[in-house]
Amino acid sequence: MPMKLSDEELGMQAEITRRDFIHTATLASLGLMFSSGCMAPEERVIESEADRIYPPLKTGMRGSHPGSFENAHALARSGMSFEAKSTLNEEYDLIVVGAGISGLTAADEYRKRFGKDARILLLDNHDDFGGHAKRNEFEVDGQTVLSWGGTMNLEYLSFSNTALEFLEELGIDLVGMNKQLDFHYGGDKPSIWFDEETFGKNVFVKGFSMYDRSREPLDVIDQFPISEAGRESLKAFYSSQINVLAGMSEEQVEEVLHRTSYTDFLSQYGGLTKDAVALFIKSMDGYWGVQTPSLSVSEAMHAWLPGSHLLGPHAERVAPWIESEQVAMFPDGNASIARLLVHALIPSVAENVTAQNVAAASFNYESLDLPDSNVRLRLNATVVRAENEHDGVSVTYVHNGETVKVAANHCVLACYHAIIPYLCPELSQDQKTAQQYQVKCPMLLTNVLIRDTAPIEDLDISGVYCPGRLHAKVLKIDGVNTAGYSYSPGRSKPVPLMFWGMMAPPTHDKPLHDQLRDARQELLAMSFEDFEREVRTVLHGILGRAGFDVQTDILAITVNRWPHGYSYGYMDLWDPEWKQGAAPHEIARQRVGNISIANSDAAASASTPAAIEEAIRAVSELT
Ligand SMILES: Cc1cc2nc3c(=O)[nH]c(=O)nc-3n(C[C@H](O)[C@H](O)[C@H](O)COP(=O)(O)OP(=O)(O)OC[C@H]3O[C@@H](n4cnc5c(N)ncnc54)[C@H](O)[C@@H]3O)c2cc1C
Repeated sequence: MPMKLSDEELGMQAEITRRDFIHTATLASLGLMFSSGCMAPEERVIESEADRIYPPLKTGMRGSHPGSFENAHALARSGMSFEAKSTLNEEYDLIVVGAGISGLTAADEYRKRFGKDARILLLDNHDDFGGHAKRNEFEVDGQTVLSWGGTMNLEYLSFSNTALEFLEELGIDLVGMNKQLDFHYGGDKPSIWFDEETFGKNVFVKGFSMYDRSREPLDVIDQFPISEAGRESLKAFYSSQINVLAGMSEEQVEEVLHRTSYTDFLSQYGGLTKDAVALFIKSMDGYWGVQTPSLSVSEAMHAWLPGSHLLGPHAERVAPWIESEQVAMFPDGNASIARLLVHALIPSVAENVTAQNVAAASFNYESLDLPDSNVRLRLNATVVRAENEHDGVSVTYVHNGETVKVAANHCVLACYHAIIPYLCPELSQDQKTAQQYQVKCPMLLTNVLIRDTAPIEDLDISGVYCPGRLHAKVLKIDGVNTAGYSYSPGRSKPVPLMFWGMMAPPTHDKPLHDQLRDARQELLAMSFEDFEREVRTVLHGILGRAGFDVQTDILAITVNRWPHGYSYGYMDLWDPEWKQGAAPHEIARQRVGNISIANSDAAASASTPAAIEEAIRAVSELT
């Protein structure tokens, strides 16, 4: 099967819901029309009315979608100044910047502390609420098919009491949801696809996972299209029982576990050849926000990568994180938590919503910003300034091309920390420097709805690792029938496939923060067509052998692009050990007057409980 297909052979011209939907009016207001007055070719499709009022159904470029980030970049990168032409005649107790899980939690917590009548305005630069908690929805023959575009796992064994109580108050039964779950991240029927462009040969290997050395006979490795020496080194690595740390002092063991990169360990201690090591480089894409050359041995092995069998009695120091194995999930990921919060804040948005039916509930976005509601949620609104005034705060934002100012008693900044220095010039230089230490990891999650589950069933796979491709993992989304949603893909029925990964840095030989910035630029520079061509190529390569027709069998593509993805958490190979109170996130999140600071960045932890806890802390600081 020839790999490099032309755009025509790939079906790039096929009519699917796939373009970057964007409102002409919005583009014009942002000054983004081409000088001719035309739109860029990929932006010519105008959204339907249904898309406009119900963003989860939008396909094409989502996440950081066109229209969401330009004003913030103009402020932070080009130093553009935005002057408010008017002050809104609206009065608020609290303004929340960012309507992700942290911002929504902050609004909820504020009402608990300051009373249900508190008037609250939430502002977010996206056309949907939830931030990374992004719902992707498809409609197939009148039936709703769900997937997630960002945060999805609730690894509840590691949650603090604060987070557990908060979720319980929303009515969420984490243990019950875990019992209902039958989704295994492709681990139950794994496979690997070696693509011809990278490996010179198109090879599909079933029944082998790079993680688990106990699963299958090692002779499967004979099929891998790498050097003979590489294959032998892999087999020797997986089957070795040598304790490579034998005779080392505690200091030397620490050096290996915490100061050696996983890929160096594989070659120096695991005996792998260069081409065998390369197979592991993308193996953590999606789970960690960085690749294995940037992870320590300990970090990689805690996350199930193999090698602990070479550590003798020290293996238990890198035992896999159990809490990550015990998860609860909603079918739209943690977007259901965002929906529950929005419903608690603005009850008219949906009727009779509970944690048991929230995924299936229909939400009316026209109720989000009604003048007579105590809580208003304003989308497509980018905040460009937040300032303490003598008796409260003022917040300036851009909405529909207009810059306006609005006043309140308090403000919670639940947005990314890296933008805060540009929003709040009054902060100390130390605090600004600490906020800019937070360089988020660029992430990528693309959902592709295919016409028929049959090719996946015929191949008998549930997930594919693609060591040479942009998205390292392709997973069948099935078995998350929780919160009122039930969908069983089967023969002749569509199924969403999740293409999951991170943006690889162009090079690994730079400081990590620079690698992340470079990767972000690459991600932002990619057009929807780039992603479309990629997923079509991969689906042809993997499923073509089972009768999948790439020209006709793709129904919809939704790219969730997150240049500001995971919050940066400190890493063994890159960060010093800060004294308590001196770590960047602890300095970055300090309250300034009537402005307090939330977001998962405030915990330097890419996690939903962190977003919740930091919101509760931020509100507790407001007096
Ligand atoms: C792809 C992906 C997968 C993830 N998976 C998981 C997972 O499985 N489990 C888990 O626990 N965590 C996961 N995370 C981590 C996730 O970030 C957190 O779980 C949590 O959702 C973060 O919430 P937040 O409100 O702090 O930030 P965000 O969700 O980023 O919300 C902040 C909001 O503020 C907005 N904003 C920024 N600047 C401005 C401005 N100037 N004006 C107005 N609005 C602004 C942003 O656009 C955004 O909408 C994942 C993250 C990503 C990207």
